[in-house]
Amino acid sequence: MKLAALFNLDPNVKVRTRFAPSPTGYLHVGGARTALYSWLYAKHHNGEFVLRIEDTDLERSTPEATAAILEGMEWLNLAWEHGPYFQTKRFDRYNQVIDQMIEQGLAYRCYCSKERLETLRHTQEQNKQKPRYDRHCLHDDEHDPKQPHVVRFKNPTEGSVIFEDAVRGHIEISNSELDDLIIRRTDGSPTYNFCVVVDDWDMGITHVVRGEDHINNTPRQINILKALGAPIPTYAHVSMILGDDGQKLSKRHGAVSVMQYRDDGYLPEALLNYLVRLGWGHGDQEIFSVEEMINLFELESVSKSASAFNTEKLLWLNHHYIRELPAEYVAKHLAWHYQDQGIDPSNGPALEEIVNMLAERCKTLKEMAISSRYFFEEFDCFDEAAVKKHFKAAAIEPLEKVKEKLTALSNWDLQSTHEAIEQTATELALGMGKVGMPLRVAVTGSGQSPSMDVTLVGIGRERSLARIQKAIDFIKSQNA
Ligand code: GLU
Repeated sequence: MKLAALFNLDPNVKVRTRFAPSPTGYLHVGGARTALYSWLYAKHHNGEFVLRIEDTDLERSTPEATAAILEGMEWLNLAWEHGPYFQTKRFDRYNQVIDQMIEQGLAYRCYCSKERLETLRHTQEQNKQKPRYDRHCLHDDEHDPKQPHVVRFKNPTEGSVIFEDAVRGHIEISNSELDDLIIRRTDGSPTYNFCVVVDDWDMGITHVVRGEDHINNTPRQINILKALGAPIPTYAHVSMILGDDGQKLSKRHGAVSVMQYRDDGYLPEALLNYLVRLGWGHGDQEIFSVEEMINLFELESVSKSASAFNTEKLLWLNHHYIRELPAEYVAKHLAWHYQDQGIDPSNGPALEEIVNMLAERCKTLKEMAISSRYFFEEFDCFDEAAVKKHFKAAAIEPLEKVKEKLTALSNWDLQSTHEAIEQTATELALGMGKVGMPLRVAVTGSGQSPSMDVTLVGIGRERSLARIQKAIDFIKSQNA
């Protein structure tokens, strides 16, 4: 039987990329950037994007990690056309290919004992030779295949593997550096590099974008693909992400999980924009909508050198998107944060209005949710520093007066509330701040909020008036 790729794929699709995470933990920023580059390349070329879960390491893979990766991809809105495929569901296919390779002499069974292999290696090391399998079993016909054995790929002995990495350029590895790779273990399970090869082939992958930590696997994978008569994809190995101290990015540097960024109040657009710039650029442009990324992205302009993570810049981008994206859209993400903070936002201003009120002041949605709590809920106490500064006995009179004026308003709107404050200040011959600040602390509990008219209208008449009275009582009790 001739070897052939398994999947029935649309021949009109010229570019097919994949993201192939191992589900051993959450989706981290390095993985997300690889996924993004891979996704962008496919979209740029009207191609397709495949999601494949490489879960063959049964000890380290967990369903929770798979779920976390899918959640991260969905949150980032990196949609896939095919998958998710799971390698553990494809063992029959891998074994079918291995059996055919044995039949065709592309692979062979090896019965060598551990002891023999150890002695071999020891001798090679003593003779200053590179340790490699000596093909003792290549022509073995003594053993019964029922006996325990591994299967090895018959790697070419001559020549080199040459490939043009889309990021790193020309790469050449001599076959004398490569061993006859084990493709099936004694327990019958196919090995990692082999599964990747069969998957990339079956799934019609034309461009493999992955971390540079896989670069050593590439020549081995290319040799197997060649033996199978499979097309060789273009490879693009992207560099590492470092922390701002130049060390490999890790938890020490703060959040590295994509979902942690959601929890911390970032918008997916900000993280995507941040990640795309982390190792890729287009002139000195910093802001890219997803559409622009798709239009402009090319693997050739991905940087070879490692990129350093910069939280300040991510925060700056987040603030940009909070201000620039439609308030209605930002509000959807904000809703998640109210829930996360245990705030019920149903009794108060529309979330869209909150976004309009607070976009200038809040760099994260978490901050926005927390700092807008007073629009929806009563607070137990006033901020201590604000009390010290603005709740002196002298604040009683302006608060009483402004309350009186506000109570008398027939319309609770921006203009009337503003005028009430202004008139209070004029009548008492006080600066606006002497009225506005105690009023702000009274209705919000703290010294920070949008302008007073906006704040009062957002909080509503009943709540505002009750809170002003509560503040007056509080100041009186403090000064009794
Ligand atoms: N499963 C590998 C990883 O998570 C990726 C392998 C590949 O992209 O070829 O690092």
